[in-house]
Amino acid sequence: MEHLPHAARAATQVVALGRPERAPGAAVNVPVTFTSTFVAGGPTIYARTSNPTWEALEEVLGALEEGPGMALAFASGMGALAAVVGLVPAGGTVVAPRHVYNGVTGLLDELAATGALRVRRVDPEDVESVVAACEGASLLLLESPSNPMMELTDVPAVMRGLRTRYGAERPVVAFDNTFATPLGQQPLRWGVDLVVHSATKYLAGHSDVLLGAVVAHPERADLRERVHTYRTLHGAIPGPMEAWLVLRGIRTLHVRLERASASAEVLVARLEEHPAVQHVRYPGFGAMVSIEVDGGADAADAVCDATRLWMHSTSLGGVESQLERRRRHVLEVDTVPENLIRLSVGVEDVEDLWADLDQALRHGVRRSLDGR
Ligand SMILES: *Cc1c(COP(=O)(O)O)cnc(C)c1O
Repeated sequence: MEHLPHAARAATQVVALGRPERAPGAAVNVPVTFTSTFVAGGPTIYARTSNPTWEALEEVLGALEEGPGMALAFASGMGALAAVVGLVPAGGTVVAPRHVYNGVTGLLDELAATGALRVRRVDPEDVESVVAACEGASLLLLESPSNPMMELTDVPAVMRGLRTRYGAERPVVAFDNTFATPLGQQPLRWGVDLVVHSATKYLAGHSDVLLGAVVAHPERADLRERVHTYRTLHGAIPGPMEAWLVLRGIRTLHVRLERASASAEVLVARLEEHPAVQHVRYPGFGAMVSIEVDGGADAADAVCDATRLWMHSTSLGGVESQLERRRRHVLEVDTVPENLIRLSVGVEDVEDLWADLDQALRHGVRRSLDGR
């Protein structure tokens, strides 16, 4: 693989890392390596352990998250999160925010129901209660901004609190950085042990692939090793084509995010003034926004159905703008408002996005008023 001058910035890393060595006539992109096994005598024996296409992607992800050489690609974001939860010993305790990606809620509930682990739910904005809930816990899962409530956690303060109160006995801290991406924040710098991604979202960026990743802190090679072992033994591996697609998507991560974030700011300012919108949740950066609309769940559903440009679909982080009412999912916790619509702002022209959203909001609220 190519190596960059140490000081290369993120926008350069996404373009330049994970490429073959420069040599006259060499390809500029890594190939998709379709193989299940390797000729004996080399570093890799079998393709459930590693694959050269994953390694190129892992090089980029590790560098972006400030964990060079510490990234591992997984079959999906949930595959990566399951590997992290797999670090918890039998009967151990996991501390998690009350609002978190609903697949995580489902996974933890499932494992708690079988007695595999215990779960404590916390308000992620209340640092003291997060720290206090970690008494005897094996794992603290964080997600900030949280999905879909956009709550923020003061992670450096949580890490200070954990160190002061528990010292070396503190739980492993894992952080889901899917919403912000490493261009928005780098949680390993705050001292968390593991960063998790659903690369399905912004990193891949085109709604055409599922893939996940875990990046360990440079001083936690032990955790990287255990997560790697989990991946190998549980077979939670990505396909080489999927890894290649994510690597291809990452090349434009910075320009996609710049555009989407700038448009999100414009839309947030207008949504705050919109007569059909009660409340806007926006963390102040990134391209994810949640709104609560007049007229309850029915109106929110009508808004989602009335868009013609915005895609009414779950998921986020694609070039196309997407929206959905989160409570339509049975796994979504009931403290998420029924009328909350989550918006993932894409890279289309912002005036087109606004025109479509505005007409859908007016339509949805009119329909719910007519129904009264
Ligand atoms: C989508 C998502 C996941 C799950 O990732 P998949 O790739 O769909 O398995 C986890 N965390 C967050 C924040 C997500 O948005």
